[in-house]
Amino acid sequence: MRQLIYDYAGGTIDDRPIKSINPGGLSMPHLAADKLDTPMDFESIVAAGSSLGSCGIMVVCEGVNIVELARRTMSFYREESCGKCTPCREGGGWIEKILERIERGEGQLSDLDTIERLTWPIERQSFCPFGAASVWGVRSLLKLFRGDFEAYIQQTNPNGKAPELPVRPIYRPDTGDVAPKVRV
Ligand code: SF4
Repeated sequence: MRQLIYDYAGGTIDDRPIKSINPGGLSMPHLAADKLDTPMDFESIVAAGSSLGSCGIMVVCEGVNIVELARRTMSFYREESCGKCTPCREGGGWIEKILERIERGEGQLSDLDTIERLTWPIERQSFCPFGAASVWGVRSLLKLFRGDFEAYIQQTNPNGKAPELPVRPIYRPDTGDVAPKVRV
């Protein structure tokens, strides 16, 4: 990968150090920069922890906001989901919403476990391979750069303030006024 990135593609802008490489497009797991010398064949990339996927290589430089990268990744898949099955249709949107909340400074450290937990049913219970592939990128970012996510949350929400979630009115037909009047 090093030869491809530095010799054939001209390296990174302003020679910025590489933070991670995604060798197979947005849906494949990211690899840390220490995997830069992995040969570009299927077996080697899989052994390193990713896959060649579409072979659309992404290079992430130091200084990139990892929270934003994760959110943009998930936004793409939420948008592209065909909506046929629940884990992919709903799960992608949930993860995106949590990442958006973290990004605007309302994140909590426990959100990271929630995101990680949500990726497993999406991967295992989605109808087609799109569902699984939609979460590999985000989960790998969490695994490789959890410290970056934590630092972002601690910086943007130092008091760990819980977000104000909208309250959904509960429909209870036995509580008089709360229930809608039904005329028959
Ligand atoms: S996993 Fe496949 S079938 Fe299910 S909603 Fe996503 S794209 Fe559609």
